[in-house]
Amino acid sequence: MALNSIFAEAALLGGEWATNVRLTMEAGTIRSIERGVAISAPDERHRLIVPGMGNLHSHAFQRAMAGLTEVRGPTSDSFWSWRTLMYKFALSMTPDDIEAVASQLYMEMLEAGFTRVGEFHYLHHDRDGRAYANIAEHAERIGAASVETGIGLTLLPVFYAHSGFGGSAPTEGQRRFINSIESFSALMDGCRTMTARLPGARLGIAPHSLRAATPEELRDILPMAAGGAVHIHISEQVKEVEDCIAWSGARPVEWLLENMPVDERWCLIHATHMTETETRDMARRRAIAGLCPITEANLGDGIFPVEPFLEEKGCFGVGSDSNISISVAQELRQLEYSQRLGLRSRNVVAVPQQSTGQRLFLQSLEGGARALQSDSGIAVGAAADFVSLDIAATPYLLPHQVLDQWIFADSIKVDCVWAAGAKCVAGGRHTQRDVIAARFRSVMAALLDAA
Ligand SMILES: [Zn+2]
Repeated sequence: MALNSIFAEAALLGGEWATNVRLTMEAGTIRSIERGVAISAPDERHRLIVPGMGNLHSHAFQRAMAGLTEVRGPTSDSFWSWRTLMYKFALSMTPDDIEAVASQLYMEMLEAGFTRVGEFHYLHHDRDGRAYANIAEHAERIGAASVETGIGLTLLPVFYAHSGFGGSAPTEGQRRFINSIESFSALMDGCRTMTARLPGARLGIAPHSLRAATPEELRDILPMAAGGAVHIHISEQVKEVEDCIAWSGARPVEWLLENMPVDERWCLIHATHMTETETRDMARRRAIAGLCPITEANLGDGIFPVEPFLEEKGCFGVGSDSNISISVAQELRQLEYSQRLGLRSRNVVAVPQQSTGQRLFLQSLEGGARALQSDSGIAVGAAADFVSLDIAATPYLLPHQVLDQWIFADSIKVDCVWAAGAKCVAGGRHTQRDVIAARFRSVMAALLDAA
């Protein structure tokens, strides 16, 4: 396997900026890192290099709806009206549609600087609700999209069995999501075979929510994770909290921490509506907060209590969830800005004398890697997942100012992106953009025609 070397004037290594760095890659991993070196002939030269970010929460098919739900209905709009339209799309898509939309999405993620995706995958069955001949058909299509684009995949097959707390029957609109314990076990087997074939892929498990799985079902499916990550939607909506209290007498996060073996393998998606006790307890259990700031803002969910969570050394990462907008910088900016609006304060995520951009970036890098069970940052032996930034408009900046500028000031762009050592993006464009985008356009035209 040929060696491949990159020279960077500055690179973010282990949380610190180093200058005049050479990264040598071999077979998708970083073989060596040299600092304070001069550029030599085989090196590909770049100005600034930062680690690739993990996107810890995505529903790929929802990319097809981006920008189509921003019209006010007859009453005040909410998450639940958004969900109605989401179900309509979910019910109409074929395996080919799903693969085309996922490829477009994963291409956009790479162009944004995300090098791995956690696909919280719940659209499993055929349009009539019956399992495909291969129950993992859609998971295979997600895998194919990851291969076509080059993004790292942590597949999180979703267990979904009920429409509400207490095991209520699923609705007709949920028929493509639904599994029994037995069919879910078969699905997990198919996903395990598929991910074993994909270099660098990981497999976890995702009980959809406390609405969708009973306590008994949760206990039955957890062993199927086999050491993989466990992700769950929780406390996204006030109604969900109220329904959980009516069902159990406890709030969702409170119930989960009391009744399930929550530890550092768990990623709690949203965890928006928590008391201070829940927030601190969640951090002490070392569960990762899977924050989706753009989607949470778009859906009007609420604001995660970041201050008490960080005081307890809680770990968070970010995900693009509904995929309304794909941007590392905008996710991190929205995270901080939501805090500022809620607290009427500034630089909430940082500690004194620290760059907010750098804290946001490094925290999310660590949380994303833990949640997706992947490598964190640029290190010898780690996957060669990194991003070069185009700083042509801001050549006067010092390296430690770059992340603030990228996240808050829009003056820096992603230039090139490597995932598992492969250069997927050059000059801000994915190498397969024309083919993938053309296929996506034709699929969308047909979907909207039929809608
Ligand atoms: Zn979600």
